[in-house]
Amino acid sequence: MHTERSGTVRIDRRLTTAVASALTVLLAACGAPGDSGRSGGSYLGESGQASAAEDPAWDWSEERIREEMTRVTAGRDLTPEQWPGGARVAVLLSFDVDDGTVHLDGRPPSPRDLSRGAYGPRRGLERILDLLSEREIPASFFIPAVTLMLNPEVADSIRAAEPAHEIGVHGWIHEQNTSLSRRRERRLTGRAFDYLEEAAGRRPVGYRAPSWDFSPNTLGILRELDVLYDSSLMADDRPYELVGPEGEPTGIVELPVSWILDDWPHMNPMSDRYAPPREVLRVWQDEFDVAYREGTIFLLTMHPQVIGRRSRFVVLRDLLSYIESRAGEGDVWYATHRQAAEYVAERAGM
Ligand SMILES: [Zn+2]
Repeated sequence: MHTERSGTVRIDRRLTTAVASALTVLLAACGAPGDSGRSGGSYLGESGQASAAEDPAWDWSEERIREEMTRVTAGRDLTPEQWPGGARVAVLLSFDVDDGTVHLDGRPPSPRDLSRGAYGPRRGLERILDLLSEREIPASFFIPAVTLMLNPEVADSIRAAEPAHEIGVHGWIHEQNTSLSRRRERRLTGRAFDYLEEAAGRRPVGYRAPSWDFSPNTLGILRELDVLYDSSLMADDRPYELVGPEGEPTGIVELPVSWILDDWPHMNPMSDRYAPPREVLRVWQDEFDVAYREGTIFLLTMHPQVIGRRSRFVVLRDLLSYIESRAGEGDVWYATHRQAAEYVAERAGM
């Protein structure tokens, strides 16, 4: 069914048709690369404008290019002189508890795909919380509001865990921001903040866009909601300040992500990008080594329905042991995204 080639599993061509619909869903998955939602609305404002196909970028004037390509940009590097307690590197672990929301793609919900998502809250989350508790490591959990609606025990178990973890917003139902009008995106995002405040007992201060899918309107909405930080963009591997369309610093901290530092695209058994888990461990070790040497951040995006699976969980466990073996005593500051954002913002006088 599958053939191994250069560490990558290729899907047999005969199965292409059979898995085509599944791959469509995978492209929309949280943290999975793809251009989901880019059709017919990537440049929309409230009313929606012409699609990219009708309005190709090579026809744009310089003014238009600047307008379209600088709505959200990277400002100053916010890496502090040193991390709390004199640590050399900040390690920020995040888990996106998508449940089945990530497998909805405008089609009737599939029990098969929803069950795949359900593994996260049902099985993976407990493994993760136990490991974090055993190693005394705090982490951030980004959760679509609908995950908590259907699984209220998720918030309870995260809140009951030691050390204290953070709960951040990950959309209402893992919606694709770039396919929404500004008004609808604003309403769903605001509702998600309110819902999590109620469920988590504390107003969230951080946001991770579903699928890291930032629309042209997302930054403005986050400013209206007065968020402390976002963790959805990739312009750097150090924390930075988000800059708005007029070139103005926004006061919002970006804690950047990367598909390299995400379990989903590496360890998705239904994708042609699949890599064996222990090879992913090697990638993450190399990433950590450089972050440690440079004194910046090492930020991982993981999903309980992916990393929580038995043969993937080994990777997280071994990675934490590797970090412990490489770093000197007190060299690593494990923090929630909130703690890191508060620290760098304060040091930068934001
Ligand atoms: Zn997600």
